[in-house]
Amino acid sequence: MRTFGCVCGQTLFFENVACERCGREVGWCPSCRVIAALEPLGGGTYRCANAGCGAVLVKCANYARENVCNRCLPAAEAARGLCDACRFNRTIPDLSMEGNRERWAELEAAKRRLLYTLDLLGLPYGSAADGFDPPLAFDFKADAIPVDGLWRWMGEGERVFTGHADGKITINIREADSVEREKRRVDLGEAHRTLIGHFRHEVGHYYWDLLVRGRHEAEFKRVFGDHENPPYGEALQRHYREGPPAGWKDRFVSAYATMHPWEDWAETFSLYLDITSVLDTAVNMGLIGPLDFADLHGMVGRYRQLGLVLNELNREMGLIDVVPEVLHAPVVEKLGVVHALVRRQAG
Ligand SMILES: [Zn+2]
Ligand SMILES: [Zn+2]
Ligand SMILES: [Zn+2]
Ligand SMILES: [Zn+2]
Repeated sequence: MRTFGCVCGQTLFFENVACERCGREVGWCPSCRVIAALEPLGGGTYRCANAGCGAVLVKCANYARENVCNRCLPAAEAARGLCDACRFNRTIPDLSMEGNRERWAELEAAKRRLLYTLDLLGLPYGSAADGFDPPLAFDFKADAIPVDGLWRWMGEGERVFTGHADGKITINIREADSVEREKRRVDLGEAHRTLIGHFRHEVGHYYWDLLVRGRHEAEFKRVFGDHENPPYGEALQRHYREGPPAGWKDRFVSAYATMHPWEDWAETFSLYLDITSVLDTAVNMGLIGPLDFADLHGMVGRYRQLGLVLNELNREMGLIDVVPEVLHAPVVEKLGVVHALVRRQAG
């Protein structure tokens, strides 16, 4: 990520809806692809105030009406209503329930960061109307019956599982509740549990369908193992019965990755997006020098160095490590498969 600038000179951030100094409304301009001040033209239209752009825009309906988005779309396409990030939503939370609008806003913010990184990498994604198979879509749903305590032992009637199926990414909106999420992280012994992490993991499954299925399965199997044997259901049961195999840390990025080659892929893909976005931000903030994003080993080396610094800074403040994983050679080899596929897509 990078920062942006208001016409008044103030720094703007990716999530901003107004300038902290001059009070101007700001939003994402799809034309010049920055967060820019919005100059009102009347009738709900705005001009992008970014020098040299001047695009005539309207706010996304989820910005203007719902306050969960900060993107705009070209005024000529106002009839679409939703921006390039919100148009993938299939199900949104029930806004009559207290707290759901705030949870939804958290989900949208994480989703916009995800899409920013996918765009940065030049990765394709699209809806059915765009001709994508599978089409990307998001379901943000709540449990039908509220449950007390830990979700892993959900009662009957609770059936919203965070996951991916045929391009559809479902996130249980309970994940947007920081207290619930932390309880679950501790229960599952995870190093991190974040909304952006969920999006990065689930979109990894989407890209398996899009980039690997029927195209590069042999290459995948050679490094990640056979995804057809044992079948997914069997692997899932074994994982929850027996836990990860001894010594998994030498070969896998997380305990969850040991469950099945598809989960290993999704966890590795998620790590690849972590590395890309953290390094991109570090370069843009001047924390590290320029970096060749075509060179995976260079990226991994920088990420390791940066991780040491970031972890120490966080420990100084009593916070969790930013980079908890140790990147052993087998994990880097898996990252190499992801990297090669991503680069090939990006041309
Ligand atoms: Zn300003
Ligand atoms: Zn613009
Ligand atoms: Zn939007
Ligand atoms: Zn998964």
